[in-house]
Amino acid sequence: MSVQATYLGMPLAIDDLDVENLAYFKHCAAHNFHLQRCVACNLLRYPPTTACPWCMNPKSDWVPVEAKGAVHSYTEVHHAIQPAFKAHTPYLVLLVDLDTQKGKPTKEEALRVVGNLTTPDGKLAPPDMVKKVGVGTRVRMVFADAGPGLAIPHWTIDESAQQPARPWRYPQE
Ligand SMILES: [Zn+2]
Repeated sequence: MSVQATYLGMPLAIDDLDVENLAYFKHCAAHNFHLQRCVACNLLRYPPTTACPWCMNPKSDWVPVEAKGAVHSYTEVHHAIQPAFKAHTPYLVLLVDLDTQKGKPTKEEALRVVGNLTTPDGKLAPPDMVKKVGVGTRVRMVFADAGPGLAIPHWTIDESAQQPARPWRYPQE
């Protein structure tokens, strides 16, 4: 069954043929983070896909995964293309290395999950919070409800984690 919702006034939809994303976001709607684990090689994968990127096996199980990690890279958006985001600039798009499975199957690999930086209650982060986050910042996942059956996974600063003294940021003005 397809899912439809709105986020910041924008329509979102997952088609009923997109079974992997329907399953992924069904867990997100319950504020749980699950990923597919290959039944053949036991490696997790992200984003949701029809076959294992490591061994091509199409069979997988959905398993709970700890949604914590460190910022691998980021983009700070000052000129929003989507009008809905204009009121929220500057905002951050984070690429986060999960702690789970980091360095496997090769030392350069990690499960890298994209999301916006938000407050702990899932609202896009205000400018003073945006300034504190850079490469290496420890984050945890939060979910922003977008409608029945859909919540968007985002990242917020992990208050309980040891943070780097100075996370790396692009040179500022
Ligand atoms: Zn596999």
